[in-house]
Amino acid sequence: MEETKVSAEKQLDFNIINASLDKLEEENRVLGGSVVRLEEENAMLREMFNNANNELANLKKPALLVADVTSIDKDKAIVKLPNGNKFYSYIAQELNDVQAGDAVLVDQKSLNVVQRLDVNNNLEVEKFVILEKPSESWKEIGGLKKEIQEVKEVIELPLKKPKLFERIGIQPPKGVLLYGPPGTGKTLLAKAVAHSTNATFIEVVGSELVQKFIGEGAKLVKEIFALARSKAPAIVFIDEIDALAAIRMDTGTSGEREVNRTFMQLLAELDGFKPLDNVKIIGATNRLDILDKAIIRPGRLDRLIEVSLPDEEGRLDVLKVHVRKMNLQSVDVKELVGVMEDFSGAEIRAVCTEAGYFAIRENREFVMQDDFVKAIEKVKFLEEEEGAGRIFG
Ligand code: ATP
Repeated sequence: MEETKVSAEKQLDFNIINASLDKLEEENRVLGGSVVRLEEENAMLREMFNNANNELANLKKPALLVADVTSIDKDKAIVKLPNGNKFYSYIAQELNDVQAGDAVLVDQKSLNVVQRLDVNNNLEVEKFVILEKPSESWKEIGGLKKEIQEVKEVIELPLKKPKLFERIGIQPPKGVLLYGPPGTGKTLLAKAVAHSTNATFIEVVGSELVQKFIGEGAKLVKEIFALARSKAPAIVFIDEIDALAAIRMDTGTSGEREVNRTFMQLLAELDGFKPLDNVKIIGATNRLDILDKAIIRPGRLDRLIEVSLPDEEGRLDVLKVHVRKMNLQSVDVKELVGVMEDFSGAEIRAVCTEAGYFAIRENREFVMQDDFVKAIEKVKFLEEEEGAGRIFG
């Protein structure tokens, strides 16, 4: 009896110990979880601390200067700072691909080149040019049959059928120069050939290159061609090319030197690509007389196409293009072109717009002969007011 009592008490103690052990184990597990969480938090805080430390260290570093490399001499470069000062600087050893024309980062104190800026990241050029896939087709050009034919041969055919030129064994021109009075359709021709070849159309205005982006002209020219290559097939249309390529007066002014540098870069780019690369250049000018002949030398823009004011037949063709969508009543287009002597394509288009306005003013939804007569007078008057320069073009 006594024995049974002792064993029952022992069993009870044993159960109590077991329960305590279970509790301790549970507590241990919970604590284990907390330790893991605390360790994770610790690692996170350590990372945040390191980041903050790095950021602080970066903020304390002096900023690097952005400069342009104008020439290279073995492991040294002549770099030009934005203020125009030039320095003869060391190039960091690991930078073995720095070239003249590159944008680089230089140390503020030593002015040595420490990093090359990736041109693509630095390419702001897309902001300065018009980049489009034009919708103008050959049908939208009135007259200019001979000119269209030539542009097709020189620009369209090599872009569409380069193999043909390889088989025949001739090299097509790299580009053409369109010259003639304002508003005669030079830009229109360039856009239409871009449309027919599904090429990217990159338009730059020569005067803007040298006036708006002072000190940047040569670099922009380089970047425009890099952009054209990356978007090929592409057509680079340089309007007012005379602003870059006029015969230089050698006045020795800094503006003159800048234009010269930009022009030299343009020549270098023209020389640098192959005739069958699918990038073509179309230059346009109203002033062939002042153009530096270097630009039209063989291998450059050596095909010259004159785009003159339309004759009577040409004017009729242009007028027909522009009245195609107009609601006309009793209009004799032949009679109209007879009194539009010396009108350019742009002026003929302006006549159509003005005639439409005369109709609107009289609350009509169709345009009559008299609207055109008044519009022609108005355009003539505006041109005379303006003097020699044409306002429609
Ligand atoms: P600029 O020398 O002033 O740059 P441009 O010769 O490049 O002038 P465009 O810009 O092509 O002239 O012409 C201006 C507008 O005039 C065109 O958008 C078009 O509407 C009209 N135009 C000019 N020529 C023609 C043409 N032959 N056929 C139809 N439209 C024309």
